[in-house]
Amino acid sequence: MKIHEYQARELLAKFGVPVTASVLAHSGEEAAEAFDRLRGDHGIKMAVVKAQVHAGGRGKGGGVKLVKSAEEARAVATHMLSKPLVTPQTGPEGVPVKKVLVAEAVDIAKEYYLGIAVDRSKGCPVLIASSEGGVEIETVAEENPEAILREPIHPTEGLQPYQARKVAYRLGMAGKQVGQATQIMAQLAKLFLACDASLAEINPLVVTPATETHPAEGRVLAIDAKMNFDDNGLFRHEDLKALADPAEENPAERRASAHGLSYIKLDGNIGCLVNGAGLAMATMDLIKLHGAEPANFLDVGGSASEEAVTEAFRIILDDPHVEGVLVNIFGGIMKCDIIARAVVSAAEHVGFQVPLVVRLEGTNVEQARQILQRAKAQLPTMQVGTDLTDAAKKITTGVKAVDVA
Ligand code: ADP
Ligand code: MG
Repeated sequence: MKIHEYQARELLAKFGVPVTASVLAHSGEEAAEAFDRLRGDHGIKMAVVKAQVHAGGRGKGGGVKLVKSAEEARAVATHMLSKPLVTPQTGPEGVPVKKVLVAEAVDIAKEYYLGIAVDRSKGCPVLIASSEGGVEIETVAEENPEAILREPIHPTEGLQPYQARKVAYRLGMAGKQVGQATQIMAQLAKLFLACDASLAEINPLVVTPATETHPAEGRVLAIDAKMNFDDNGLFRHEDLKALADPAEENPAERRASAHGLSYIKLDGNIGCLVNGAGLAMATMDLIKLHGAEPANFLDVGGSASEEAVTEAFRIILDDPHVEGVLVNIFGGIMKCDIIARAVVSAAEHVGFQVPLVVRLEGTNVEQARQILQRAKAQLPTMQVGTDLTDAAKKITTGVKAVDVA
């Protein structure tokens, strides 16, 4: 589960990580009021208006703007809220912006990256830090991998103080910043473990410039935050669950998850219905190998009911980009006859206007074949795939044939 930056900042603050002052706004009017409030309460002179969406790279897409007055905050927020935000992470159609955060702007001497993610090969969380802040960490990893520091975090003992100090020194911090930075790392690690997070990022973590007029500066602060939580841990955290924002999720993905299906929308033209994540990945690979692109990842799992599988077909067939459907089931716990019944039910309720290739093997496959055979009249576009390659070939040529016609 993802949360918004403004929510992540509240969590950071709760764990004692210093963040800049900020106020959430839903309109230009509220953004102007937010600016005035920050000026009154914190004496700010400048603020940044930041689009609150579950996607990063906002800075590059015009979703982070500096403003110097309440009037400017109003104008910038009104504009930001009026159209979808396109960033390198959203896709070309962008995502709607429903809220903006008005946050105190700070002078920045240096930006750092600080994050915690799960290192699957080590089987523990890992603290990741880099002195190349403000840049996507993936870009740093590609272009300058030695600039990334990694410290494994013991799953029960947590991050040790010596580890945090080592990272702070390697980042090039000195003097009082070392203490502030190690404190932030320790608190971020506590937050990560306590909340069952799967990702907790501060990018950038900044140091403000110390000047003669502001000798107290040189502060270490979080000015952006991103957090994801493990869905399987959410039952332990009612407070975190309440932070979910369904409006940020793809509607088809939301529908699928309500039926216990793992569905991810992709850009291709072949809808796939598969059981098991591994088989789903292999099926997508084969579709690609034979010259088409998958329209989705869909794992119906082992225990889905006929209704849930029928809903899965509805979701696939509702996607206007779908030009063909490939069903690939290896019946084990999932029984082939349930899938066959769902195919027939989808044919009755929605109708397959596009080519359909069905490949079934395993538990109750004979019953399944009979069900499909009996319903042949309702399934004029159906072909049977004898194995995975045959099925992938049939659906890709089927779709191409329709294209030509
Ligand atoms: P995103 O990661 O989505 O691009 P950020 O919040 O990291 O959004 O903002 C992008 C950049 O904008 C930062 O790297 C920083 O340079 C600048 N910025 C963001 N917030 C502030 C702030 N409060 N004060 C000054 N600069 C900021
Ligand atoms: Mg950022």
